[in-house]
Amino acid sequence: MSSDSPQIALPLLLPLSRSELDRAAHLRGDDSALNEMWQRGKIIELLGDRFRCSGNSLEFLSGSSLSSTNEEAERYFLGLDKSGTPYFVLHKSTEITEFPKEYESLRTIGKSLNSLEIGAAVHALAIAQWHDAHRRCAKCGAKTRSTMGGAVRKCEVCESDHHPRTDPAVIVLVKDKADRILLGRQKVWPAKRFSTFAGFVEPGESFESTVLREVSEECGGTVENMRYLGSQPWPFPASLMIAFEATISNPDSVKADGQEIEEIIWLNRNDLKSKVASEELLLPPRISVARAMIEAWYGADARKDLVGSETWRN
Ligand SMILES: [Zn+2]
Repeated sequence: MSSDSPQIALPLLLPLSRSELDRAAHLRGDDSALNEMWQRGKIIELLGDRFRCSGNSLEFLSGSSLSSTNEEAERYFLGLDKSGTPYFVLHKSTEITEFPKEYESLRTIGKSLNSLEIGAAVHALAIAQWHDAHRRCAKCGAKTRSTMGGAVRKCEVCESDHHPRTDPAVIVLVKDKADRILLGRQKVWPAKRFSTFAGFVEPGESFESTVLREVSEECGGTVENMRYLGSQPWPFPASLMIAFEATISNPDSVKADGQEIEEIIWLNRNDLKSKVASEELLLPPRISVARAMIEAWYGADARKDLVGSETWRN
């Protein structure tokens, strides 16, 4: 069974949470198995944070035609599909900003990939970016090297193991008892972009405490109850978004904090539909948790009614 495809029905269907690969962690420590799998594997090529693509799909290269590692590229094992075919990513770091046209970002291609591709791509991007940022040991400063198929970096001097890091952030759909939703606008966002509230979990905090704190900080809302909706990796570069909806007890006294959030707005379904249609309000992209939460609240006609432009935060 696939190790990370949720088999449990959750309230939200999240586009980047789909996955069909078995991560096969038991094979990571076996270099001969990794070499054998590379020879028959399907390889995702990642240049910086861009995927080699063919049309709207990933272009899988054949492991037998590639060297597994060289001066410029490193391989990381992603897992096995249902037929036992291994998948890897071959990552080349780069400083370039103008990419050849066959290389696309996950933001661009994310909505057109199938479940196997999206799961592999999210894993590939997250692991590659972590390796790129952890070339040195956090304890002694010496060089580290990839081991365990890319699941660990080991320090060459003090031999500390360093594990890939994921930064949890809660994302909250704030509601009132009349079933309106509250969206906010960050100062740094493109004009007219509104979204749900979100913030990183701080050391020593639970998800639930983070929900209470973030809603209070960003709009002065007092959360009365909350419900867990699901989670989705967000590898830009290393987040995991944990989604909640929360009803607040003081809808009439909320206001933007004026620091991070410059404007907030209560919306019922008709308000949202008309503001999106007139492009008075721009929603986050379809692959985001925020969009999934807003569409799930809106109901079955969301894809038909909410058809305005979508915006990224940067
Ligand atoms: Zn060290």
